[in-house]
Amino acid sequence: MHVAVTGPPAPLVVAAPNPGSPLDRAVARLRDGGIVVVVDDEDRENEGDLVMAAQAATGPAVAFFLEHTSGYLCAPISPARAGELDLPAMTEHNSEVHRTAFLVGVDHVLAGDDPESATGRAATLRGLAGPGGASTDFRRPGSVLPLQGRAGGVLRRSGHTEASLDLCVLAGLEPAALICELVTADRRGMMRGPEIAVLAERHDLPVVTIAELVRHRRRSERLVVRTGEREIRTPAGLLRAIAFRALLEDVEHVAFIAGDPTAADDVLVRVHSECVTGDVLGSLKCDCGTQLQLALERIADEGTGVVLYLRGHEGRGIGLGQKLRAYRLQEQGVDTVDANLALGLPVDSREYGVGAQILVDLGVRRLRLMSNNPAKFGGLQGFGLTVVERVPLEVAPNAHSMAYLQTKRDRMGHSLTAPQSAGPSGHTTTTVSTATQELPGSEVTPDDERV
Ligand SMILES: [Zn+2]
Repeated sequence: MHVAVTGPPAPLVVAAPNPGSPLDRAVARLRDGGIVVVVDDEDRENEGDLVMAAQAATGPAVAFFLEHTSGYLCAPISPARAGELDLPAMTEHNSEVHRTAFLVGVDHVLAGDDPESATGRAATLRGLAGPGGASTDFRRPGSVLPLQGRAGGVLRRSGHTEASLDLCVLAGLEPAALICELVTADRRGMMRGPEIAVLAERHDLPVVTIAELVRHRRRSERLVVRTGEREIRTPAGLLRAIAFRALLEDVEHVAFIAGDPTAADDVLVRVHSECVTGDVLGSLKCDCGTQLQLALERIADEGTGVVLYLRGHEGRGIGLGQKLRAYRLQEQGVDTVDANLALGLPVDSREYGVGAQILVDLGVRRLRLMSNNPAKFGGLQGFGLTVVERVPLEVAPNAHSMAYLQTKRDRMGHSLTAPQSAGPSGHTTTTVSTATQELPGSEVTPDDERV
């Protein structure tokens, strides 16, 4: 997941991973000065890197890296450390495919006459880790390439650079690492999935995915702060509005609240994704605006409930302009799912970790979720939230939205009554189904977080 990089960096709260999890094993190994394998997403580099803490680098450990990797040894360091050591960017205009922030290569003065040797590079790595040391301790250019990690770590950029630094911090070590990409035994290509597993098994190396690290951090760190609060009279009734800023995305969300959710058992909740065309302008191409009004009425009628309005989710997360372009494809006969895919966009890239944290902040623990989407808002257990019921929120189709709603039903599994025909006026008529569907208590829907 790549998120906007404005706003203050989130504080890195060090919360221990689940005992016995792959992340826990990797962190423990790093703490012991060992080597781990970090794997990224299939749709990114699809690579495994060997990773160790730079402060633990030794000649034999670096030799192991040289034996199994490309040998292009990189040393991720924090922005603060790069500043301390006065290390400039390797190039002014970075056109590297993943915008990895390469700094000028260095050799430590203690690396001796053969700084390219394994022992020489180990000395450079330990020097980069610090603590202490000065800019003048390093000759440049040199054979070890420092990389500057992004502040905020994997929550800002899900690369091996940030992952290795986050892992060092989780292990209680200096934020400086040694990383390098695994290559095949014949050294002709990059090592991929099954081969990585075999190598890790043979050398007893813990394997952890960047996705797991992202999930851990999203669940253990505070990602939202309250920014304002006031009662607002709406057509549905008097509701309390609380604004939240999502620290990483630099976007404000708002919750409309009826009654006191902290005092209720199973709180009626709508997590509504922003749709400017439907919510604000009343577009008939979708059912968003009507669903939003219905949800506000439902919580007002019930006396307790939350409508959480998540912004920046336009077009299931693809953005407003992209949504309009997708509409054009839809008019040419492509449905909403294929339209997103045709534009090279994920079907649903919304991420609900922030929404979950807002609900927890509001005191919600068990909720009855107003949604027709069985997959929506999955993977909540890690946040301490349980969906005990799914409450359908059906809007009768009109001539303009029928195809869209049929796609949501047929291709995305939404529980909608079969759209048959639209009213002759083309205006949206609404019905609210009160039927609810009990979910198995221990199960949550598949985690749809994207990294
Ligand atoms: Zn909409």
